[in-house]
Amino acid sequence: MTQEATLLKGAEIAKKIQQELVRQLEEIKARYHETPKMVALQVGQEAASELYVKKQGDLARQLGMSHELVVMDANSKESEVLARIEELNRASAVHGIIIQMPLPKHLNMAAVLAALHPRKDIEGVLVESLGELVRGKPKLAPSTAIAAVELIRATGIDLNGKEGVVVGRSQVVGRPVSLLLLDDNVTVTVCHSGTSKRGFLESHVRRAEVLVVAIGRPNFIPGSWVREGAIVIDVGINRVDGKTVGDVEFEEAKKRAAFITPVPGGVGPLTVTMLMRNLLNAYLWQKEK
Ligand code: NDP
Repeated sequence: MTQEATLLKGAEIAKKIQQELVRQLEEIKARYHETPKMVALQVGQEAASELYVKKQGDLARQLGMSHELVVMDANSKESEVLARIEELNRASAVHGIIIQMPLPKHLNMAAVLAALHPRKDIEGVLVESLGELVRGKPKLAPSTAIAAVELIRATGIDLNGKEGVVVGRSQVVGRPVSLLLLDDNVTVTVCHSGTSKRGFLESHVRRAEVLVVAIGRPNFIPGSWVREGAIVIDVGINRVDGKTVGDVEFEEAKKRAAFITPVPGGVGPLTVTMLMRNLLNAYLWQKEK
């Protein structure tokens, strides 16, 4: 009988990381007598982002940190939004800021994001944060990307020199994942739509000892492509016939992989915990000179 892969469940790994965050928070509170705080800035009412904001607030409070939702009118002028961000940048009691997406169309997203203080950028979206990512061992990086990498680390497998293949090169997932894996000494190949068009995707995926897929196409990677004993991280979230499925054909892939993330239940449940870790890192960074 073939042995099936061990499931990498985000919620279980999140619990362990949360324990460490609580320990770090106790140290912070004992030393600085204050509570790290994040603000989610939302412009207009957006149902899609409300669940995410609720999850942030619930986890922040559960861990012992502060979370505030600041809602601005949907018709706010860009200058008003920038002024509000500047206020939050200057507020010494605010240590992390996130701008809830999507923003109303009349606002220039790049200009709004660029207004954030780099040490308060807990989503790791600023050019400065991405620059730190390229330099290696960043303090703040996009939470989905660090969640994917933490799941890989949780396997306990020595990653030194492993063949890593990342499918997808978006700014929030594929690119940061590939740079973070490089920090762990993985030999990284990044695939994208051009790789597929030339018919090379399969050969790259078949080589992967560590495979991260973030493309947003249901069951796009056939399980039969997965290398025996691979670590498979499926970041994809797709709705098919009322069900959520990933980018990898799970049932087949789990017969070949050593470790695999379920979808749902893999990367997703870990991302808010990573945001909280970013908040702690941002707090400590602000305490540095
Ligand atoms: P994007 O749409 O920004 O990027 C998709 C990437 O996939 C692109 O780089 C694109 O290549 C590549 N791609 C598309 N088609 C192919 C193909 N046929 N062959 C090879 N590569 C291809 O998506 P995101 O990175 O934002 O998200 C990816 C998935 O992850 C989505 O399902 C999203 O819902 C999910 N997600 C999950 C999160 C979580 O918390 N679990 C958080 C964020 C995203 P190219 O650059 O050439 O166009």
